[in-house]
Amino acid sequence: MKILVTGSSGRVGSAVVDRLLAEGHEVMGLDARASGRKAAGYSETVGLLDDAAAAQVAAAGADAVLHLGAFMSWAPADKAKMFAANVEGTRVLLDAAAGAGVRRFVFASSGEVYPENAPISQPIDENHPRNANSPYGLTKLLGEELVCFHQRAGRMETVILRFSHTQNASELLDEESFFSGPRFFLRPRVRQQENFGNSKVADLLRAADPGRPSHILACNEQGRPFRMHITDTRDMVQGILLAMTHPAAAGEIFNLGATDPVDFEPLLARMAEITGLPIVKVDLPGAGVFYHTSNRKIRERLGFKPEWTIDRMLQEAAEVRTKRLAQ
Ligand code: NAD
Repeated sequence: MKILVTGSSGRVGSAVVDRLLAEGHEVMGLDARASGRKAAGYSETVGLLDDAAAAQVAAAGADAVLHLGAFMSWAPADKAKMFAANVEGTRVLLDAAAGAGVRRFVFASSGEVYPENAPISQPIDENHPRNANSPYGLTKLLGEELVCFHQRAGRMETVILRFSHTQNASELLDEESFFSGPRFFLRPRVRQQENFGNSKVADLLRAADPGRPSHILACNEQGRPFRMHITDTRDMVQGILLAMTHPAAAGEIFNLGATDPVDFEPLLARMAEITGLPIVKVDLPGAGVFYHTSNRKIRERLGFKPEWTIDRMLQEAAEVRTKRLAQ
């Protein structure tokens, strides 16, 4: 097959490209950033998702589009850029794909359409109402609507995957990584909150700093530690390829992620054993993060079998951290 992968320089997109090339497919990438990849069967358009000319070039001759490119940001200053990339970009790409006669279009949506951090009922399945409460979640909800419109009005088969929070295992114990740094390490969390303009939370966190680098065990205002899903990129790749190929995926919406959520208290204890850093428990304002999302539909209908438990991910994270610190 010839497959267009958007976000081909990103975390998930680059892993998908590797896998497709290994399976002998012809792959076209589309990303604002060049990947530097030189491989037989691979070509790339460097351009913005909302650039119709770039989208047309990229989609030409494709059998399938895996639309994984998006701008993820929670910073108020990024709103316009994010709507351009995620909403207008998705509209432009759907039109380009339909015009090029693409057979199947897979869209990376997000658990933030529910949103997972404020569920009405749990486990969260695909019928949970979509009450996005962040601009990013709203861009994904609007993206879903555009995809559904094409599913109804056109000839292209579409699949919506509501992605779990996704990490490369190597990111979990890296203070500098975009998600895991502020999630699990106190000082990166202070910097993140300052960037978001949450000076009250930043002050609260700073007051808890024990004077040396440390982990943060994030809890809600009642002291309940966070719980959420963390899915390994490799399991996401498996689900995306099932969505691209499985006949039963056409026209469907699936949650895609790890089967079990991760409880932060035991997770942080394991992390601290590996890093030797102290854990600081901080009770943050609000109800906190505490959710369980069901992946039952994609397991039962498409045969999705996640393989990367949090323990396996941590083992790999520890090896990568040891190597990084030795350098
Ligand atoms: P990523 O940030 O690593 O990759 C996204 C890619 O999109 C980047 O390479 C970036 O350069 C590209 N991009 C951003 N704006 C662009 C634009 N305007 N034009 C062209 N390219 C642009 O993210 P990821 O973790 O690989 O996520 C893949 C998809 O999954 C995204 O759609 C994201 O919204 C969704 N998602 C991710 C998570 C997660 O936890 N990683 C969770 C839910 C949903």
